[in-house]
Amino acid sequence: MLPRISRALADWISAGARGIGQIEIQHDGGGFVLCHFDDIARKDLEIFRSPNDAAELAKFDDEGNYRPLKTAPNLRRGWRLELPDLEALQEALDFFYPGRLAVLAAWEANRLTTAPLRQTLHRQSGMYRVAAKISDEQIDTVVGQFCRSRGGNPGCLRTILWSRDATGARPSQHLPLEKFIAPIDQTGRGETRIPLLCQEACNLLVAEAREVVAEARETTSRAE
Ligand code: SF4
Repeated sequence: MLPRISRALADWISAGARGIGQIEIQHDGGGFVLCHFDDIARKDLEIFRSPNDAAELAKFDDEGNYRPLKTAPNLRRGWRLELPDLEALQEALDFFYPGRLAVLAAWEANRLTTAPLRQTLHRQSGMYRVAAKISDEQIDTVVGQFCRSRGGNPGCLRTILWSRDATGARPSQHLPLEKFIAPIDQTGRGETRIPLLCQEACNLLVAEAREVVAEARETTSRAE
């Protein structure tokens, strides 16, 4: 029997999932071929054959900028990754979207723990402790910008499973309801795709919250 994560991946593939995030997954005999979903028709793609190549492919965007958030919709184009089997596919996807298959498998098994944003912020120490001072209104704006699937800064293709606080309130009214409903895919392609889930605010969002609080304090002290 396949381990839980491999089984979750195999189930999505056999259910007809076309890909995950910005990656298209095609069957090729017993193996798989991956490329950026906007490159499907291209014949000039650079060929890679090891799942380890995914680590490099995921690192920089098309402009050569480092991608700190792997689920941001800025995956570089121009490559084709040929993999021999499901094991290699799982390995490669773990480089492209670290931890996401494990989180999906846990969610499907009803074993995923999520944390409200305020709980995550209250857990911070050192220079990030101040992030907990962010207001609900500021959260509404920051999450609406930062986690947006398309046109955000940087934007993110994960489906948000956490609430703003213990009341269960949605963290942002600026995002569409489907941004919070798993297993809806966030690419907007209207296909069956393996969802990327967010069980807890990432460090980048925490850093952004800290920035917002610090800026607001600076503005207030300049005005005094
Ligand atoms: S908090 Fe989650 S949804 Fe928002 S940017 Fe970070 S990983 Fe993406």
